[in-house]
Amino acid sequence: CGVFGVIGVADAANFVALGLHALQHRGQEAGGIVAHDAEQGFNSAHRFGYVRDNFTKQSLMETLPGALAIGHVRYSTAGTKAATAIRDVQPFFGEFAMGGCAVAHNGNITNALALRRELIERGSIFQSSSDSECIIHLMARSIQRNIPERMKDALRRVEGAFSVIAMTRTKLIGVRDPLGVRPLVLGRIGDDGFVLASETCALDIIGAEFLREIEPGEMVVISKGEIESSRPFGPSTGRFCIFEHVYFSRPDSIIGGRSVYETRRQIGVELAREAPVEADLVCPVPDSGTPAAIGYAHESGIPFGMGIIRNQYMGRTFIEPTEQIRNMGVRLKLNVNRALVKGKRVVLVDDSVVRGTTSRKIKDMILDAGAAEVHFRIASPPTAWPCFYGVDTPDRGKLLAAQMSEEEMREWIGVDSLAFVTLDGLYRAVGEARGRNNACPQYCDACFSGDYPVAPFDQLERGFRM
Ligand code: 5GP
Ligand code: SF4
Ligand code: MG
Repeated sequence: CGVFGVIGVADAANFVALGLHALQHRGQEAGGIVAHDAEQGFNSAHRFGYVRDNFTKQSLMETLPGALAIGHVRYSTAGTKAATAIRDVQPFFGEFAMGGCAVAHNGNITNALALRRELIERGSIFQSSSDSECIIHLMARSIQRNIPERMKDALRRVEGAFSVIAMTRTKLIGVRDPLGVRPLVLGRIGDDGFVLASETCALDIIGAEFLREIEPGEMVVISKGEIESSRPFGPSTGRFCIFEHVYFSRPDSIIGGRSVYETRRQIGVELAREAPVEADLVCPVPDSGTPAAIGYAHESGIPFGMGIIRNQYMGRTFIEPTEQIRNMGVRLKLNVNRALVKGKRVVLVDDSVVRGTTSRKIKDMILDAGAAEVHFRIASPPTAWPCFYGVDTPDRGKLLAAQMSEEEMREWIGVDSLAFVTLDGLYRAVGEARGRNNACPQYCDACFSGDYPVAPFDQLERGFRM
């Protein structure tokens, strides 16, 4: 998901709409905005579909006045899978004795089932199936006298990944979980306006200046042009999601002081060193494989070309909630540039293999178009474990790499060769010259290593074996 909030600008909701539009890649199912105005109080709108199709309408934006607003774009990783209900769309809102509070959450709470059970037993009335709603109910039960303190109480009980943006009548609040699994950045706009966003690309779109990242385990409370920082969870070392670098974030964002584009290009360089092959053409599987393909081509000296063309009017296929839509999606989204690939030995570069359906279909399309050989190079290690921290990987049983060896995968996909970047290669690409520190890993890489930095309580209860 993507979160965005702004304080201290006129018509804040319009800025939120733009910010969410820049974060649309993080969630395409639905979006919501809550705004606060001194006279008109809190107002909200929650809609299915793209930001640009909803939050551009003047008639809707007029209902969201005020100088303080937050928003959320959703991609369901928890809650009802098949049909997202509008009541699952964030931000969530709660009315407390000291005033209202809206909360937008990116990540996934790993003890949400247990918390929900406990809260319902004690009288909470849940409105949605979302794990994030726990935060509001935990806040309601806190005995603290102000909302930031209640939020600290609530988040101390929550396990897992959370980058949260919240607002009261006068404050904009941002919090990152102790591991800082999901991103969250701080920016400045105008004279005394401030912005919180999942990624820096959302600051760029509104012309905000990037100040810094919110640190793992940090809370900031912004009001009247002042920022107050605290550490509600005690000291911690971050384990940022390495997959944000591989796929999830936008390439024009800066994360951990690094350009995501440059990291991806560097993964391609590592891949070319680790898994060279004789070929005529390096083609990305667009868009997610493009920077790595550029790196592979550059390092190997094999010409780069767009052998697969992407229809710009399709969204991210993986983020469609049902299997059927995803299966159709590959063909709706990608087509082979026949004139380019005919007769050539092609290196295809993609960011990841999850179920393997994309790779298999693309291989068919490329061979149909007359390619002589197809060599797959993947810019991440085999995805053998599900993510429980906010990226929607399927059950282990559906992960190709959990079922097969690399050679079996090569055969199943049907290509001449298949290679994945190593975990150390990936760490080198994100700037860790010595690779992964196995005693104390610098990132979360659980989907590749099975090393889960937070025990996935709910999943263990459901029978998941680590
Ligand atoms: P597959 O067809 O193997 O299941 O999916 C792999 C494709 O899904 C890749 O092209 C990758 O870009 C894309 N993808 C989209 N979202 C995700 C995600 O959340 N996780 C992973 N691993 N790949 C994703
Ligand atoms: Fe990111 Fe993978 Fe960790 Fe999930 S399991 S947070 S996708 S690195
Ligand atoms: Mg892709």
